[in-house]
Amino acid sequence: MATIKAIEARSVHQIQSGQVIVDLCSVAKELVENSLDAGATTIEVRFKNNGLDLIEVQDNGSGISPDNYENVDDAAFRSALKHYTSKLSSYEDLTSLHTFGFRGEALSSLCALADFHITTAQAHQAPRANRLEFEISGKLRKTQIVAGQKGTTASVEGIFKRLPVRRRELEKNIKREYGKVLNLLHAYACISTDVKFSVRNTVGKTKNVVVFSTNGNRTTKENITNVYGAKTLSALIPLELELEYEPSGPMRHLGGGGQSHQLVIKGHISRPVFGEGRQTPDRQMFFVNSRPCGLPQIAKAFNEVYKSFNVSQSPFIFADFQMDTNAYDVNVSPDKRTILLHDAGALIESLKVSLLQLFEAADQTVPQSQL
Ligand code: ADP
Ligand code: MG
Repeated sequence: MATIKAIEARSVHQIQSGQVIVDLCSVAKELVENSLDAGATTIEVRFKNNGLDLIEVQDNGSGISPDNYENVDDAAFRSALKHYTSKLSSYEDLTSLHTFGFRGEALSSLCALADFHITTAQAHQAPRANRLEFEISGKLRKTQIVAGQKGTTASVEGIFKRLPVRRRELEKNIKREYGKVLNLLHAYACISTDVKFSVRNTVGKTKNVVVFSTNGNRTTKENITNVYGAKTLSALIPLELELEYEPSGPMRHLGGGGQSHQLVIKGHISRPVFGEGRQTPDRQMFFVNSRPCGLPQIAKAFNEVYKSFNVSQSPFIFADFQMDTNAYDVNVSPDKRTILLHDAGALIESLKVSLLQLFEAADQTVPQSQL
């Protein structure tokens, strides 16, 4: 009979890490969110071979305090040790979350899943920076003084190299995965006003090609123009809805004490032009309090209402749900991409009514240029 043995701690770490960093999108998401949390106003994302060889995010944010890696007793870099985070000190903090990161798991996971290093400098250190290399466990292996401006560069080389099945799967689907990452980065670039965002890729001999960029604009409208072009923007109308809906079911007795929820949706959406007009790109981005996320039920509601005005096209949707942090749960999936809205049914009913009104009030004549 086979003896039952404890799994090596290292393997446990790798398995758990594989739940936070599930694909290329989660790598980009975690690194970009760290840069935004650090108050960056420029963010550059660099890929090599569509991310298979390298995903690197450089920012001009606060940099990481040397307290986290200099003279630490256990010679461990706190930022990359599991559950070390500078953003959350107690469970209660979770309910009033305003930064993206809060679990201190991303960097630790990346150490287990790839060759990971960071170059970082705070304002007072520049033009000297520290290059930090990590062991698989997240412990600091080596620090080195290098030249560098204020900010942080996080480099992920050979993602999933220690999980061969996951790696092969990624190599097989790299085109599709890279496309998904770009869509996600479009969402971050468009929502992040006052941040100059650029994405570059090196494939074969075509080195460092700019894939897209924004100019540090004041408005999401200008960001959308940078990313998708002026043509796309001209097909859009402002999306501004104020919804109020009643909590339903057992939740009624919890938290909000039965008070109605209020939320504001802000963004841009295709005009409900009749006929076979210009194709709008099939781009749909949803955010909750400026955090990009998937909201499949909400997307379905938007598409249904739009269809009753225009059967031949899908709308471009850029919708930021600005709502009370206690009206949803972020902490439901390890990669924090799924957001659970409380009382989604009532919200959706109210949303459909408001959307219908918005489209009815919008100019429905086909622009001359499309006739
Ligand atoms: P979390 O974001 O949940 O705190 P992470 O593992 O993503 O956890 O990061 C751990 C810590 O490392 C962060 O709390 C932060 O202090 C630091 N850090 C990571 N990336 C950056 C960055 N780009 N700029 C400044 N600090 C960073
Ligand atoms: Mg983080």
